[in-house]
Amino acid sequence: MGWAEDAPLHRFLVSTPLGARYPARVIANFMRRPRHFGRRVYVTSIERASNATPSLAEDAVKEIEMRLVRFGDAGQEKPGLIDAEHVLRDLSGEIDDIAGQHLSRAGLARIARLDPKSLPKADPSRRLGSPVGNVGNFIAVGLNYADHAAETGAPIPKEPILFNKATSSIVGPHDDVIIPKRSKSLDWEVEIAIVIGEVAHNVSEEEALDHVAGYCLCNDVSEREWQKDRGGQWMKGKSAPTFGPLGPWLVTSDAIPDPQAIDLWLDVAGQRMQTGSTATMIFPVKTLVSYISEFVALQPGDVITTGTPPGVGAAMTPPRWLRPGDIIALGGTHLGEQRQTGKAFAG
Ligand code: ZN
Repeated sequence: MGWAEDAPLHRFLVSTPLGARYPARVIANFMRRPRHFGRRVYVTSIERASNATPSLAEDAVKEIEMRLVRFGDAGQEKPGLIDAEHVLRDLSGEIDDIAGQHLSRAGLARIARLDPKSLPKADPSRRLGSPVGNVGNFIAVGLNYADHAAETGAPIPKEPILFNKATSSIVGPHDDVIIPKRSKSLDWEVEIAIVIGEVAHNVSEEEALDHVAGYCLCNDVSEREWQKDRGGQWMKGKSAPTFGPLGPWLVTSDAIPDPQAIDLWLDVAGQRMQTGSTATMIFPVKTLVSYISEFVALQPGDVITTGTPPGVGAAMTPPRWLRPGDIIALGGTHLGEQRQTGKAFAG
């Protein structure tokens, strides 16, 4: 079935074998992107309709959403996916890891062609690790929300502020957050992280999203004194073990046609601290990927965490720092939820 670029697509509904019907415009937007996983064949009929609604578009996104996970003990995670019925399935018979080339367009298309029901079920109580393995570069963006820049008293950056997080900070979404030795000012930051799928070097903003495999939730845990008062780069306050919880899953980018429409939230000890939307990002996702690719040849499996909305502990009066026993819960549209417990450093 072909698509006429100039057709009034919002006047048509598309049906699929699973019975979902949604505006043809939504599908056409996916089809124009290189990453469409061959789902074109699933369209069974098209009909005229004048009442296509946003909720139908949301159903469309749900149906094609692919959620990839890594499960098992730390360092020994297996690849998996969460199917449409929220069942954890084992992918280890198909691929060795959710990493590297498996995140490329061809690699993800291969996974998308599998019938999830043909994959073995896995024990749903297993620990989840980071949904991306073998992360090469873990790059973060500072002060990327206008409302967060305002709460910190910092001016709006003219260009994206970049810093590194050590890849050894990466943990699973529900692992404990360890308050480091001598740390007195541990803080939280709910963020959406970009996972790179194709090498990106000097890519334009128009091309940028085609280099993105997908997105996951990130808690950019931050030691504020080490970040700001110890001289030099922010990396010092952003890199300790457990400072980079990722997951629970990687949702592929075709399920998030507009990464600037993601709501984010974070609670500490049952109290809502952060509420925001990627709509208030100063530099949107496509700009960040393009901008960073000027300086870095981004590789499949690289992770870029994109900045946090307002509500960090440092901006409160007095500041509120993470205490042992505090539970941090955070989430985002399509991205699932994380839950960590603050633990004092021992040893
Ligand atoms: Zn951050």
